[in-house]
Amino acid sequence: MRLIIIGGGIAGLSAAYYATKNTQFDEITLLEADSRWGGKISTDRVHYNDGDFIIEGGPDTFLATKPWGVALCKELGIADRLHGTNPKTKNTYVLNKNRLLPLPEGLAMMIPSDIPSVLRSQLISWPGKMRMGFDFLQPAKSINGDESLGNFVSRRLGREAYENLIEPLMSGIYAGDGDQLSLASTFPYLRDLEIKYGSLARGALEMRKKMPSTPGSRSAFLTPTTGLAEIVEALVENLRLKSVKLHLNTSVTAIHNLQPSTFNLELRNGETLQADAVILATPAPISGKLLGAIDPKLAADLQTIPYASTATVSLAYRQADLSRPLDGYGYIIPRREGRKALACTWTSTKFPHRAPDGYALIRVFVGRAGQTLTPGPSPFRGGENPPLPPGGEGLGVRDDYLLALAREELQLTLGITAEPIVSRVFVWENAMPQYNLGHPELIKRINAALENIPGLALAGNGYRGIGIPDCINSGKLAVEKLSEKEMMR
Ligand SMILES: Cc1cc2nc3c(=O)[nH]c(=O)nc-3n(C[C@H](O)[C@H](O)[C@H](O)COP(=O)(O)OP(=O)(O)OC[C@H]3O[C@@H](n4cnc5c(N)ncnc54)[C@H](O)[C@@H]3O)c2cc1C
Repeated sequence: MRLIIIGGGIAGLSAAYYATKNTQFDEITLLEADSRWGGKISTDRVHYNDGDFIIEGGPDTFLATKPWGVALCKELGIADRLHGTNPKTKNTYVLNKNRLLPLPEGLAMMIPSDIPSVLRSQLISWPGKMRMGFDFLQPAKSINGDESLGNFVSRRLGREAYENLIEPLMSGIYAGDGDQLSLASTFPYLRDLEIKYGSLARGALEMRKKMPSTPGSRSAFLTPTTGLAEIVEALVENLRLKSVKLHLNTSVTAIHNLQPSTFNLELRNGETLQADAVILATPAPISGKLLGAIDPKLAADLQTIPYASTATVSLAYRQADLSRPLDGYGYIIPRREGRKALACTWTSTKFPHRAPDGYALIRVFVGRAGQTLTPGPSPFRGGENPPLPPGGEGLGVRDDYLLALAREELQLTLGITAEPIVSRVFVWENAMPQYNLGHPELIKRINAALENIPGLALAGNGYRGIGIPDCINSGKLAVEKLSEKEMMR
């Protein structure tokens, strides 16, 4: 059986890896439109003064508690390259009226569980703290169906706790608007805590008891020593050794179903390829576009999943040029602060080996759902980006504008006025899928439609999880969908 996988991000690479373990595939081909592998995983290693800056353009760690990331690294023989975040300084700050205030201690799955620490926190006013206390008193609400994350947290903990605490934490993951995001698709465990314990804080406390807390215990977040690209490099090497056909600079423009389980793929270069099975590991709107000739309804559903644009700007400084110690992992910025940046990671504190001695590396995140920075030409490969969802807007900005914006953020908040010695800008247009209200129903419809197309599977961050472990698992599940049994139908 000939399998073609479209999209060489972590989901497509993982799908190819798991397909090599399945003997039913005689020929496996992976097609990637870009000139490099990895999609959103993009590590720049910049040599400077006998050391290296390890600059991540996209993700910089993955969650250890979701098993699929660690499992893949073990299989690839690179698990010993994984390390956690710096255990010495775990502070994270929240920007609040231009001041950096520490997050309360004892957050478990975003929810505060350490009551004295919440009472001490200046992030929430006294009326706000009293409102948070209602969480212990009000029973679980009986709701049929879904609700927005913003609505759920506001009704349990109050609007102030949502806006000052939970919203910026959540934004760091989805770059989304919590009043639009589906609770069931993003943080379903929060509703489980409400139902099981009748209180988020009580539930969070129970969860915290189960978490390892001894010094030196494994970090919740892991990353390879010289960046997440190590996983991509190990995967590509593994696939080469197993004779997978790997093609960069190869963009698919349409797919046709010749007869059940035989597909014709049209490429941008005019060529046509045939396959018995296809995995689409492209962003959902692109997958939708490619499937237009096979199932117009499925194609339309896929194209309605909105994606937010975002950018990261990494800047390196001499430690001597900083007016304040970078004594934590960085800070997050609530939407209500009205800043264009949404978070700032102090990379060289979070991962000390990612900057040469005597230097600091800082990364500013810019752009969130619904935000437009400034009109202007897009710096990106026009054709390959997914179409903007209705009402959505890209960043449409140039690198120098983003650089200036990041420097302005650092000047305002950290007082840094020095010229950076190294800077890198990465813009990710339509990169972060938004699991908005209605997403669970959409996924059900998409899965039902796929049942009727044997030999076709989807993978990637658009459906059931945005994090790297979820994307790896999506690749694995896509291969399972193409099992012999399904293909015999
Ligand atoms: C700034 C940023 C920070 C993040 N931080 C984290 C983090 O710290 N931890 C974490 O777990 N996750 C993080 N994420 C999320 C995570 O990185 C992504 O969800 C994940 O990498 C997406 O992988 P993917 O394979 O689904 O898609 P992609 O990486 O988007 O891969 C899709 C691939 O398909 C290719 N393609 C598109 N069209 C075609 C076509 N027509 N033909 C052939 N190929 C095509 C694209 O070029 C691309 O390479 C972050 C994301 C961003 C943008």
